[in-house]
Amino acid sequence: MKRYIGCDLGGTNLRAAIIDVETGSVLHQSSVPTLAREGHEAVMRRMADLFLQVIQSAGLQKEDIGGIGIGAPGVLDLERGETLFLPNLPGTWPHVPLAATILQLTGLPTVLLNDVRSITFGEWCFGAGRGVDTVAVFAIGTGIGGGLVVNGQLHLGIGGTGGELGHMVINYNGPRCGCGNFGCLETYASGPAIAAMGMKAVAQGLTTKIGELCEYDLNRITPELIAKAAASGDEIACDIYEKAGFYLGVAASSICAAVGPRRIILAGGVAHAGKLLFDPMERTMRARVHVMPVEQVEIVPALLGGNAGVIGAACWAEQSALNNAG
Ligand SMILES: [Zn+2]
Repeated sequence: MKRYIGCDLGGTNLRAAIIDVETGSVLHQSSVPTLAREGHEAVMRRMADLFLQVIQSAGLQKEDIGGIGIGAPGVLDLERGETLFLPNLPGTWPHVPLAATILQLTGLPTVLLNDVRSITFGEWCFGAGRGVDTVAVFAIGTGIGGGLVVNGQLHLGIGGTGGELGHMVINYNGPRCGCGNFGCLETYASGPAIAAMGMKAVAQGLTTKIGELCEYDLNRITPELIAKAAASGDEIACDIYEKAGFYLGVAASSICAAVGPRRIILAGGVAHAGKLLFDPMERTMRARVHVMPVEQVEIVPALLGGNAGVIGAACWAEQSALNNAG
């Protein structure tokens, strides 16, 4: 059995899992609060302690572990193993030598990968992307992350920065995005964008169950609450998901034209809306794309849930080890 550690460095929690990279099973896992306010040195020490602890509590030795893959939420330099910009972590971690520091503290070879590229790789190796050579992932939550597998390889681009599908521009006159560009998909179809459409409808006094469900407290409106209203037949709520799905369909149409994916995978909390989101997305793509066989593109939900990132990061560590050996 080949075992690697996959880690998810989140804004709230650090999670580490020992993965059997031949089957994709999670053998053992543990998590601790990130406490990112204490600064990156403290977080890296806590990560190293977590890795050593998870090895010990699984009854293993360091020698049983092939290496560590860390999925990190932001811009990285994969070649140097450095974080460049982690927008959700205090201090944002400019040029922090994360891989080298974890190697030094644990003695285990360590590689980095963007968190959604980790999800992409995990879903491709053992989840919804299994068995096909070209896959696009949209992970829809607070933001929209993305990833691409092209011709049987995780697409990296410069330093691993390629695959930011949430920052494809769908309206060049659109609102400013957190990334600094304008009219990115993320400003139209992320969780907060969907919630904002619900808030607007209630604030405008439209007749919708969303108002009742949130007890007229706009801060309580979430994509899940709007999906609940839509499931009970509320027209305004259905219309909100119709719009979000349309925007996703527009972005996915560009992906179809650019890379010809055999499968598009929707991950993240917002994807739990299911047909509400998938149907208008699929309709939009089918109606708009004519330069490739769009009817062959499958749109599917992610399969690995919260484990995709740690599985993908561990598989990435294995692949990096194989590449170094070869
Ligand atoms: Zn953007």
